Amino acid sequence: MSGRGRGGGRGQYYKDRYGGRGRGSSNRGSEPDQRSPSGASGAVRDWGRLQDDLNQIDGSQYGAYKRLLGTYKHAQPKFALSIDHVQGDAYAAPSRVRAIMPWQETGLPDEYLESDVRKIALCDFVTRVAADFIRSKHLDRNIGSSDGGWSGPKGGAFNINAPGQEVLPRTSAMISGNATIELRFTTTLPAAGRTVLGQQAYQILGVNLVDLARQSLLYANLNQTNLQIHVQSVERQRALRTQLAGRGLIAFIANGSILPRASGSTAFPMEQSQAIPFRSPKEFEITLELPDGSNVGGMGIPCGITLLTGGGFHGKSTMLEAVELGIYDHIPGDGREMVVTVSDAVKIRAEDGRCVSKVDISPFITNLPGGKDTKRFSSDDASGSTSMAANIQEALEVGCKALLIDEDSSATNLLVRDQRMQILIKKEPITPLISKARALYNELGVSTVIVIGGLGDWLSVSDSVIAMDSYVPKIITREANQLIKQYPRVVAEDPQYGSVPFRKLSVHVTGSKPPRALRKSFIAVRPQTTNPVHDPAEAEPGVDLSGLDQLVEVGQSRTIALLLQKIANETASNPLQLSGLLQAIGEAVGLDKAMPVQLPEGDLVAVRRFELAAVLSRLRGLTVAD
Ligand code: ADP
Ligand code: MG
Repeated sequence: MSGRGRGGGRGQYYKDRYGGRGRGSSNRGSEPDQRSPSGASGAVRDWGRLQDDLNQIDGSQYGAYKRLLGTYKHAQPKFALSIDHVQGDAYAAPSRVRAIMPWQETGLPDEYLESDVRKIALCDFVTRVAADFIRSKHLDRNIGSSDGGWSGPKGGAFNINAPGQEVLPRTSAMISGNATIELRFTTTLPAAGRTVLGQQAYQILGVNLVDLARQSLLYANLNQTNLQIHVQSVERQRALRTQLAGRGLIAFIANGSILPRASGSTAFPMEQSQAIPFRSPKEFEITLELPDGSNVGGMGIPCGITLLTGGGFHGKSTMLEAVELGIYDHIPGDGREMVVTVSDAVKIRAEDGRCVSKVDISPFITNLPGGKDTKRFSSDDASGSTSMAANIQEALEVGCKALLIDEDSSATNLLVRDQRMQILIKKEPITPLISKARALYNELGVSTVIVIGGLGDWLSVSDSVIAMDSYVPKIITREANQLIKQYPRVVAEDPQYGSVPFRKLSVHVTGSKPPRALRKSFIAVRPQTTNPVHDPAEAEPGVDLSGLDQLVEVGQSRTIALLLQKIANETASNPLQLSGLLQAIGEAVGLDKAMPVQLPEGDLVAVRRFELAAVLSRLRGLTVAD
């Protein structure tokens, strides 16, 4: 970053890189432009013109690149290179191009068009092929080096938004009307100082991109077996997930799954030789049916209250993490591609310091000193317990059906209050989850899966107890029940859960800049507040998403940023009820639908309504109607 030789630090770097509005470029609105996906604005030209145009502008001022806007038609294979956005200079946010091929030309079998799931899986696969090609040919590198000085060659980097371990609806590859399939890239059009490097630009757009389109869009060049396995695997995961509710399950973990990751910092699976493959205990072993009629065996985690326990370092958190991410489909070979969870399960953690806006946390917290209203609780800097209570209530507000909790990342006083403390401290504002979990399930049908290491009182309220023993799960519900008889404890349980929030809200985003995701865990946003709290790392106001464990890609954060702006436009003068609002959005963007083609960017990835709601709820300056 320092090599860029300009002041402004990290915030400036990101601004330039992801700002979407570099110096000198026009002031585009935040709304996606609505032009038809296949016809960019500008001229339609034959392929030969590309080289001519680049020759003509070689050595001209950088702005001459704008002449490329529009479409160049390639003949063999037939596809259109659509140049949709040309950056203002070599430092600005990169230019956006697409390769759009008629479906017929690809030779891809029509069966891949048969459902949204197949389209999502196919596009995900094609994106991976393109990303691998780009990486292996080093097309993602800049030409020249930074020591070439100001006038040395710059730019050249060519990119596609590369996926992680999850198969998700993305804007990097899209099928439009079953007629075309397109790949979306960014590239930094090359320059020396401020002048166009026509030859290098031709190498990128006229040569490399053609190669790339050939390799990743023509069925003849794809690894057809791997494509089939990829699509089939996703269809299987969907099929398993849809069976959960009918079987009274929250999650299913197939035998043989590899749950642990290679390290705490990667999403890649642990090496087969080191990992203990998952093996279901007999008592909870079930079989689910795959689309081809075959069966798969594994452990079903039932609805109700389930404890995951066991000694430290025996694999409890690893199993819960696998369940958290079971809301997504995984790529073959991930190890967790046969771990599926109901799509409305939400990880809950304590998140002290977060902002809370008029949330009803009264089931858990009442009678705060000073008479602070807990039916409309607000805080700029919530505590561990109040943040966790808000997280639960906000998840319920938008329809969560299972809470996933790890003692390690919780506020203990929100989970439990033991007998001695009940006797000792009479004026306790907190009613812990242990006293509510039963009512939550009975009244609202919301299950709890909780990792418990040290809080033995939870044994008294659980339906099932799974103990991890050297990474092997055992069912110890009976032992636990005997223990409860032997060492009885008084656990106060509320017969009623209490109320769930139902907020009407409006979002105000002021200033000229739309919200932007700088990285997965941070969205820069200018809220309407007199005293925005700054993230010290960014020197920019925004929302910290690092507490959202079920967010997996920065592209999801970008989508949330885009939707925030849309929601601001809709609600600024017209407060809307949160779950209704998210319902409407969910009809356009969700995990089970291909992304809307009219979105202009190629780096957006689908998110659930829960993560979107979580970001809305964390906005400083959110207005909640009375
Ligand atoms: P706990 O939450 O019970 O303390 P963790 O889930 O954090 O334990 O796991 C402890 C360590 O064991 C982690 O480094 C994890 O990667 C590893 N681990 C978890 N499950 C397995 C497994 N099935 N095989 C091998 N190693 C595992
Ligand atoms: Mg743990």
